[in-house]
Amino acid sequence: MTKESLFEGALRQFNKAADLMKLDSGMREVLSTHKRELTIHFPVKMDDGSVRVFTGYRFQHNIARGPAKGGVRYHPNVNADEIKTLSFLMTWKCAVAGVPYGGAKGGVKVDPAKLSETELERLSRRYFSDISIIIGPAEDIPAPDVNTNGRIMSWFLDTYSMNAGHSTLGIVTGKPLELGGSLGRPEATGRGVSIIANEASKYFLGDELKGKTVAIQGFGNVGSYTALILDQEYGAKIVAISDITGGYYNPDGINAKEAFDYVTINKSLKGYNAQKITNEELLELDVDVLIPAALERAITVENADKIRAKVIVEAANGPTTPEADEILNSKGIKIVPDFLSNAGGVTVSYFEWVQGLYSYFWDLDDVRKALDKAMKNAFKDSVKMREEHKTDMRTASYMVAINKVATATRLRGIFP
Ligand code: GLU
Repeated sequence: MTKESLFEGALRQFNKAADLMKLDSGMREVLSTHKRELTIHFPVKMDDGSVRVFTGYRFQHNIARGPAKGGVRYHPNVNADEIKTLSFLMTWKCAVAGVPYGGAKGGVKVDPAKLSETELERLSRRYFSDISIIIGPAEDIPAPDVNTNGRIMSWFLDTYSMNAGHSTLGIVTGKPLELGGSLGRPEATGRGVSIIANEASKYFLGDELKGKTVAIQGFGNVGSYTALILDQEYGAKIVAISDITGGYYNPDGINAKEAFDYVTINKSLKGYNAQKITNEELLELDVDVLIPAALERAITVENADKIRAKVIVEAANGPTTPEADEILNSKGIKIVPDFLSNAGGVTVSYFEWVQGLYSYFWDLDDVRKALDKAMKNAFKDSVKMREEHKTDMRTASYMVAINKVATATRLRGIFP
């Protein structure tokens, strides 16, 4: 038997929801098919004068509810199946969060740590230039994802604007503040995850997160802000964190601010003062809430049986394989799916895009309040669906999202 692709796995979960909703086959085919799939191969001049060819992607899954939206990642494992799956998830993420976008994703197969700053800039500009045949502020709006950041968004913006002949703030989100970014965007995904973790704690564990134990796998943008906010604002006890250098455990609670500052200075958690454990051990800790915030396929059939957390809040995209999902469900572990838990990033991206289009910028407080409201509403809608259909949170969230996109599709009708 050949291994199921990431997309086939996601489709299986989508179909479970579509079955429960009795979605007709035509609509099912429309909603499970990508609108555009762009693969590019492009040359980049390296600092030593040599030329290397890189492969990049931009996939748009659905644009029924608005422009396509989604991040761009740089990683050596980027491939078409991954980008296809993540763009599909973006459609449901935007729908469940109530932001008027469809789903997209992009990526370049590259290890950015192996490039110099000037090589990174040339690669970024060429990639963006090559995908600009399908992007635009009303068509498809990229943003940061794994290993990309505000610096890279600035190059993207400049590349597009140079060709347009004017500054186009609406072309990307996740920009630096000085270049039309939004207050609260860097922390947004982590803040959204924290809001959802607290809602999940109240709903599934009967009480706020205060004093509850949390383990977080991954300490990039999402993991680090989640740790910081859960520790400082929700009073959770973060017993373990991890990154590529391994896991760091302290049963009395890790000081998230200290770890956050440590990583800002040292670029990784290597040498951080806590008991050293492995990433696997972190995932298997006996905690109230486990937050996988690294890459896809962290929880698989290999370790699903050993997971002891009561609730899993998926902060990464696709951290649980469909098989592992079934095992966890049968064990009674509650999972809040990625496209609901981590929708805070794209929600504040939407606020940033709106601010850019109007050239009117909000206070941090306004951004946080609007995010809080959007995340709580999204959680509430999924809980309602879960109770109505006596199903798991992932299926319920899919049903909420599919309803919105299917309704938009029906209202528009089929052209011509
Ligand atoms: N890359 C983020 C995600 O996966 C944010 C996307 C965006 O802001 O457009 O949700």
